Amino acid sequence: MITVAYPIIGKKEKQLIKEVLDSRMLASGKYVVQFEQSFAKYSGAKFSIANANGTTALHTALLMCKIKPGDKVITTPFSFIATSNSILFCGAKPIFVDIDPKTFNINPVELEKTLKKERSIKAVLIVHLYGLPCDMDAILKLKKKYKFKLIEDSCQAHGAKFKNRKVGSFGDAAAFSFYATKNMMTAEGGITLTNDVKADKYGRQIINHGRKDHLTHTVLGYNYRLTNLAAAIGIAQLEQLEGWIEKRIENAQKYNEAFKELDFLQTPYVPKNCRHVFHQYTIRVPLSEREKIIKYLAKNGIGSGIYYDTVLYKQPFYKQLGYKAGLCKEAEKAASEVLSLPVHPSLSKADTDKIINVVKGYKR
Ligand SMILES: *Cc1c(COP(=O)(O)O)cnc(C)c1O
Repeated sequence: MITVAYPIIGKKEKQLIKEVLDSRMLASGKYVVQFEQSFAKYSGAKFSIANANGTTALHTALLMCKIKPGDKVITTPFSFIATSNSILFCGAKPIFVDIDPKTFNINPVELEKTLKKERSIKAVLIVHLYGLPCDMDAILKLKKKYKFKLIEDSCQAHGAKFKNRKVGSFGDAAAFSFYATKNMMTAEGGITLTNDVKADKYGRQIINHGRKDHLTHTVLGYNYRLTNLAAAIGIAQLEQLEGWIEKRIENAQKYNEAFKELDFLQTPYVPKNCRHVFHQYTIRVPLSEREKIIKYLAKNGIGSGIYYDTVLYKQPFYKQLGYKAGLCKEAEKAASEVLSLPVHPSLSKADTDKIINVVKGYKR
């Protein structure tokens, strides 16, 4: 079976893990510091705080932006549940704004409509979904006009660029995930980025029980720290990330070229000024065909995935909070049509050739 994701573990990862184990510095340590510094440098942000996972990185990012109980935070309904859950962790209220059906990302026109209508929006939490950056020109213009805090959920977009600038460097804070299946991983792990020295200081307290110095706890914090072991994997992975991204882009371009004549699917759209890093290669197919296509692919040894088959506000827990179906029409339509194919860098030429031939052989 060709799987949708395949974590790569090489010599360097094993060597660094062994170093950490031998050093007996398993929790905090120099690998965490080195990983923080190299990831911040790679992403073009001034400060970074390593985290237990992408979800804690998001929660920390929102707290660094001083999101408080009762605050309203706009986000997209077409994402992983951690996005909107992190707003709820702060006691704040997620306000869902519809997506652009071409990019799957939050639609800046709809965003402005909501900013005009809903007064006192504290923050906007955008998601660079599948590895494609949001329309940052439009969003930064709105930030200037409506003065909200901007947080980037970059959990799927390590190394993605908008006009040659990496995601995670635009907002007041940003969160990345290093979960096992992301474009780079530390098994579980995450990082929060910011360019604000005060936010960085506060975030460091948040992830470490609110500790100010060895004996003093001045704010409510958590244990959201990354281990030295995980950081060691991250150091090795980051060194290889650019090569892996290039391979993902190459695979995606090969699919785009091969699939462009097919009438039952739509290939991913990439705006000219963006570097899409293809965490997922996501096509759109008619709802009536999707289950059939998934079964057909599986029968031919090809795994696929649906990210995500429903919008966040239609999850049972969110329904319970009072959200109603029909709120974001484009997001709901996308949820019923998206399908992700394997695009990861471990695919051989034989694998991508096979995927192309099988997809092209599909009969409606
Ligand atoms: C993976 C992911 C997260 C959460 O990351 P974890 O490391 O799994 O906690 C948040 N948002 C998005 C969009 C993600 O893809």
